[in-house]
Amino acid sequence: MRYSQFLIPTLREDPAEAEVVSHRLMLRAGMIRKLAAGVYSTLPLGERVLQKTAQIVREEMNRAGALELTLPFVQPAEIWHESGRWNVYGKELMRLKDRHNREFCLGPTHEEVITDLVKGVVSSYKQLPVNLYQIHIKFRDEIRPRFGVMRAREFIMKDAYSFDVDNAGAEISYGKMYEAYSRIFERLGLTFRPVEADSGPIGGSFSHEFMVLADTGEDVIVTCSACDYAANTEKAEIKQEGTSEVNEGDFKELERVETPDMRTIEEVTGFLKVGSELLIKTLVFTTSDGPVVALVRGDHEINEIKLKNYLNCNELELAEEDVIESITGAPRGFAGPVGLEKVKIIADYGLQGGTNMVTGGNERDVHVINVNFNRDFTPDTFADIRLADEGDPCPRCGKPLTTTRGIEVGHIFKLGTKYSKSMGATYLDADGKAREMVMGCYGIGVGRTVAAAIEQSHDENGIIFPAPIAPFSVLVVLVNPTDEGQAKIAEEIYDGLMQDGVDVLLDDRDERPGIKFKDADLVGIPIRVTVGKNAVKDNKIDVKRRKTGEVQEIPVENAAAAIKDIIVS
Ligand code: ATP
Ligand code: MG
Repeated sequence: MRYSQFLIPTLREDPAEAEVVSHRLMLRAGMIRKLAAGVYSTLPLGERVLQKTAQIVREEMNRAGALELTLPFVQPAEIWHESGRWNVYGKELMRLKDRHNREFCLGPTHEEVITDLVKGVVSSYKQLPVNLYQIHIKFRDEIRPRFGVMRAREFIMKDAYSFDVDNAGAEISYGKMYEAYSRIFERLGLTFRPVEADSGPIGGSFSHEFMVLADTGEDVIVTCSACDYAANTEKAEIKQEGTSEVNEGDFKELERVETPDMRTIEEVTGFLKVGSELLIKTLVFTTSDGPVVALVRGDHEINEIKLKNYLNCNELELAEEDVIESITGAPRGFAGPVGLEKVKIIADYGLQGGTNMVTGGNERDVHVINVNFNRDFTPDTFADIRLADEGDPCPRCGKPLTTTRGIEVGHIFKLGTKYSKSMGATYLDADGKAREMVMGCYGIGVGRTVAAAIEQSHDENGIIFPAPIAPFSVLVVLVNPTDEGQAKIAEEIYDGLMQDGVDVLLDDRDERPGIKFKDADLVGIPIRVTVGKNAVKDNKIDVKRRKTGEVQEIPVENAAAAIKDIIVS
């Protein structure tokens, strides 16, 4: 490929819209352009990277025995009604109507479509197990699309779905995908870690996320310093140390104190001169089953996903001011469990054993101190509803947990019979008896994976592509295209590499060398070959590795073969 005929619209300046490195560099390197919030065009350079990434995913899926197909992007509402998700999926599901007023959605995921398909084409145990996948567009109307293709609304996903005769078979299928994913992210040259995860609206009983470790990751993961436990904080359990004994003799008298305008933990603890671990943080939530009050210690954070899972409700969000007032009789910042009636109260395990605590007085500008469980109020239940944090005990071995940030690039779920049951996907077993298929589903965000690779591999000058997904393996910079001697040498190297099947880009543009070198660094092709004055004068060319900056001088004779050796080394 010749640069002069290729389209790489690089940008000199950092685009204002980009908050993270990968987004900035993908825009600057001319890989993507935004059309609308969370909707991007992939330009030719970006497309090459995406295709190479997708190809590695494809090869490993094929190796694991999965079969590629293509499913429709536009999906009729009927199948979503069948699965029961039309009304529970929420606003990420982009719904639309056709000219006959029939309801459809843009596919955010394809469990319904695949289950409907398989139910029609698989009828016997002899056709199972089967694993089907596609690499195709998804649309999710994300509440906050950001970071470019990392959290887009329209994006490319590899999604696979396995169907087995029973649970044991489904576990084997799950294990194969776990292994395939590990191979994929290894081949892509990423530093990653599989972690236990929450299964979210997809449902199912068991799941792992594959996390690329990066400081800019949106996810926080906890890992154990001693055993191999690793989990997304969304899911991470906290080991219960057993109920701490309290001595009622230590209980002080409940007291009401004026706390004018003190709403935050910092304000209240500063004013009352107590540690935040003595505070009972009182949070009011509205859920699909009515309001709920959750209590966590002042130095802990609520984990809404654990709370939602515990309550087993479809929707849960922090209550608006009017709901808080109607339940507590006070504005936000002054809620407390003492005297609260007719609302379910769930207290985090971390509060067990707390004595003489501080909490809101359910009255504007008032808190209460010396609050004690059972004497002053009794929660409906204690549960594990807080976010795990650095230093918390590992749920497996009790040793301290460490936190790291990560980018979720892949997610595998054991679905069980959730969809086959609701949608009637059955097969006939050897005795002619109808049974439900046992399913699994497995996703990889292809664009997000590319962005994650860039987050992990770049410097101040631009992208440093891992070789397996680099848009080209070699960039030949012809320093002065009007110099016939240089041009001849560069063309020969270019032809030689092409003949050997190497992906090579020849920068034959009529541009200043400074611009060519800057673009070369920005675009991040692993090997840069410079054909300049020395090539003609001394028969020498420079070969530079983007990653290390290491430069090697090689003779012009047989240069293509020598460069090929360098690529594989
Ligand atoms: P997240 O928690 O980041 O929203 P998710 O749990 O909704 O992800 P899945 O439904 O498991 O994601 O989708 C499978 C994969 O698709 C994810 O692991 C991720 O790589 C990718 N993905 C999900 N949402 C997006 C998005 N908005 N933009 C780009 N890729 C995405
Ligand atoms: Mg999501």
